[in-house]
Amino acid sequence: MSLLQKNVSLKSLHTFGTDVSARYYAQVAHVEDLLDLLSNYPAEAEDILVLGGGSNLLFTRDYEGLVIHPSMLGKEVVRETDQHVFVRASAAEDWDGLVAWSVSKGYGGLENLSLIPGRVGASVVQNIGAYGVEVADVVDRVEAVSLQTGEQVIFRNEECTFAYRDSYFKHQGRDSYMITSVLYKLTKEPVLCLEYSDLSAAMESCPQADIAAVRRAVIDIRKKKLPDPAEVGNAGSFFKNPVVPKVLYDRIKDEFPDLPGHRVSADMVKIPAAWLIQQCGWKGKRVGDAGVYPHQPLVLVNYGHASGKEIFDLSQRIMWSVESEFGVTLDTEVNVF
Ligand SMILES: Cc1cc2nc3c(=O)[nH]c(=O)nc-3n(C[C@H](O)[C@H](O)[C@H](O)COP(=O)(O)OP(=O)(O)OC[C@H]3O[C@@H](n4cnc5c(N)ncnc54)[C@H](O)[C@@H]3O)c2cc1C
Repeated sequence: MSLLQKNVSLKSLHTFGTDVSARYYAQVAHVEDLLDLLSNYPAEAEDILVLGGGSNLLFTRDYEGLVIHPSMLGKEVVRETDQHVFVRASAAEDWDGLVAWSVSKGYGGLENLSLIPGRVGASVVQNIGAYGVEVADVVDRVEAVSLQTGEQVIFRNEECTFAYRDSYFKHQGRDSYMITSVLYKLTKEPVLCLEYSDLSAAMESCPQADIAAVRRAVIDIRKKKLPDPAEVGNAGSFFKNPVVPKVLYDRIKDEFPDLPGHRVSADMVKIPAAWLIQQCGWKGKRVGDAGVYPHQPLVLVNYGHASGKEIFDLSQRIMWSVESEFGVTLDTEVNVF
C-alpha cells in the first residue's frame, strides 16, 4: 500500500495551529518505508520537509513539496560502563517522555530539558537547550538517512557542529537527512546543573536535591512562564538571544544601564532578546490574532485564526524595530517555511 497521501491538512500537526496543508504527505515507520518512498515520490514534489512534533516551525503558506513524518518509536539502554549508560531513542519518541523515563531510571543529563515539546529527532536539529544545559552535552551520535541517496549515515557528536540552538542539520545538512535515532550518553552519578537563578531558587526549598526534584522544579517554572500550545498556538521562543560585540553592548548600556548581558567570550556578549523586544514596546501587543505573549515577549502566539503570514509579518516588524532602536539584528529560532 502506498504511504503517500495528497493534500493533507497540517493544522493539527504543528503547534502554531495555522491552517495549512501539504501537497504530499507520508508517515514513515521504518527505514525501508523511507527508501521505498524516496524512489517513488512524484517528481513535482521537489522539496522535502521532515516533520517532528511541529513545535519549532512556522508555515507561511501551504507546503508544495513532500512532508515526511517519521513514526518510529522505541528507547533502550544499548551499553553501560561503570559511570554511563548509552540510551538509543527513535526519532518519533516524545522528547519529554524520554526525559521522564531517564529520570525515573536515575540516569542524569536530561532533567533540565524537561517539558520541552517535540520529538527526539528534532532535539539535535536545533540543539535544544534550557536552564544551562544543551542536548549537545549528552549526544553521543545521531543516526540518519540521506534524503538524496538513501544512504544510512552516522554522525558523531563533533560532526554535528553543535552551537547555541544550532547544528549541522540547520545548515549544510538542512532538509537533507531524516534522523532516525539518537544515542545519548547519560550518567549514573548525576551532577546537578543549577546555574540558573530561577532553578537554584526553586531547589532551595527541596528537601532532597536530585534529578527528580530538578525535573519537578523545571516543570513548575516552565508552566508559569510559557504558554501551553494546547491552549494557545506558539512555537516557544521565536527569536534567539543575540550575541553582539562588547563595544555595541557597552554603547547600549551607556544609555540603558539596566541592560542585562552575559559575557560569552572576551569581546562578545549575549543579550536577552526578550529585554530588547520589551523595550521596543512589543510585550503583550496584538495584531489581529497574532500577538506577543504578555508573560514572555520572546514568544509569538496565535490567538485563534492568525495565518502563518500574519505571524511572520509581526516577527519582521519586531526585528525591524529592535534593529532601528538598538542596532541589533535578531535571528529567528523557529524554522520558517
Ligand atoms: C511552549 C514551547 C516551549 C519550548 N521551549 C524550548 C526550550 O526551552 N528550548 C528549546 O531548545 N526549544 C524549545 N521549544 C522549541 C521546540 O520544542 C524544540 O525545538 C523541539 O526540539 C522541536 O521538536 P519537534 O519534533 O516539534 O520539531 P519540528 O518543529 O517538527 O521540526 C523542527 C526542525 O527539525 C527538523 N526535523 C524534525 N524532525 C526531524 C528528523 N527526524 N530528521 C531530520 N530533521 C527533523 C524539521 O524539518 C525542522 O526543520 C519550545 C517550543 C514550545 C512550543
